[in-house]
Amino acid sequence: MAVINRIAGFAEEMAGWRHHLHRHPELCLECHETAAFVVDRLRTFGITEIHPGIATSGVVAVIEGQGDGPVTGLRADMDALPMQEETGADWASTVPGRMHACGHDGHISMLLGAAKYLAETRRFKGRVVLIFQPAEETIGGGRIMVEEGIMERFGIQEVYALHTDPFGALGEFRTTPGPIMAAADEFRLTVKGQGGHAAYPQTCRDPMPAAFAIGQALQTVVSRNTDPLAALVVSLTMIHGGSASNIIPEAVTMGGTVRSLTPEVRDMAQTRITDIVTSVAAGYGVEGILEYERNYPPTINHAEQTRFAADIAREVSPLVIDDLPPEMGAEDFSYMLQARPGAFLFLGQGHGPSVHHPAFDFNDAAAPIGASFFARLIEQRHAL
Ligand SMILES: [Zn+2]
Ligand SMILES: [Zn+2]
Repeated sequence: MAVINRIAGFAEEMAGWRHHLHRHPELCLECHETAAFVVDRLRTFGITEIHPGIATSGVVAVIEGQGDGPVTGLRADMDALPMQEETGADWASTVPGRMHACGHDGHISMLLGAAKYLAETRRFKGRVVLIFQPAEETIGGGRIMVEEGIMERFGIQEVYALHTDPFGALGEFRTTPGPIMAAADEFRLTVKGQGGHAAYPQTCRDPMPAAFAIGQALQTVVSRNTDPLAALVVSLTMIHGGSASNIIPEAVTMGGTVRSLTPEVRDMAQTRITDIVTSVAAGYGVEGILEYERNYPPTINHAEQTRFAADIAREVSPLVIDDLPPEMGAEDFSYMLQARPGAFLFLGQGHGPSVHHPAFDFNDAAAPIGASFFARLIEQRHAL
């Protein structure tokens, strides 16, 4: 079995939805027109239980199957990115400086495609909960939806999501049990000294040498404190200070990102960075002030649900990798996987520009494959 025939039959309609969404990208929590479009489509499929306005512009909808059974959540993210599109596509963004460069338009079309099929056929028991979330790229709309209680409110027992993947062949599913994407934390630090005339350093407390030393010492968190077989990225990406060649500045500010795959390595990195900033600065007679912000946790797939999802993927596609090495990007579906067991899978769309590149565009040929995956997953997990 491959793509479900009925879904292949409305592939063009799915592409049409996607092109509409692509023309009208929205950012962060403010995905109101996108949500209205989703609600309209769901209504035309005969879905009546629709809850808009969760996490500002998120939408949750329920498709009732035949009789009691499991409750499974399927998630699509809806937000675009603040960047100028350069695809030249007929359906290119109509909003300057804004585009769907991460394929979330395609994620919506795939989940709508599955919803249309499942609402039409209802060959399953229990309930399917469709989750359309905003703000994946920014502040974690997935987290907000979990905090607003969607898991309890809709009785969700398991959750699944797909993300388009320009690094994979068309129709290639890639996943793994355990960590699949990283935690993404960020830090900003200020090295505070005392400024003055650059010709009289003895009258100042120069923050510059301390900043260099902190920058060097931060490199040792990965090379000296982390198990060589574990994964950690510490990237110092910003350094700002000074205004003229004859002035020692009062302060230097720096910042960067920390990516990790396990809670242990994540904790260790934060502790080491805190110690380095405060004690190296103290050694240089200046003050190191650190702001450390924990953002998305690692995306950790649950073993049983991942095995099951990979089996479903094999029904839909001959190309399935179920032992993918984890990636150091991040995903706010991680919060849903903290709340409920489930799995996150990449779906290859054929090689092309990377996500977050101005020439990236979702490949509509992948949509029937993704929609069939969601539909088969429900028909198997909720078999009558
Ligand atoms: Zn993205
Ligand atoms: Zn994305």
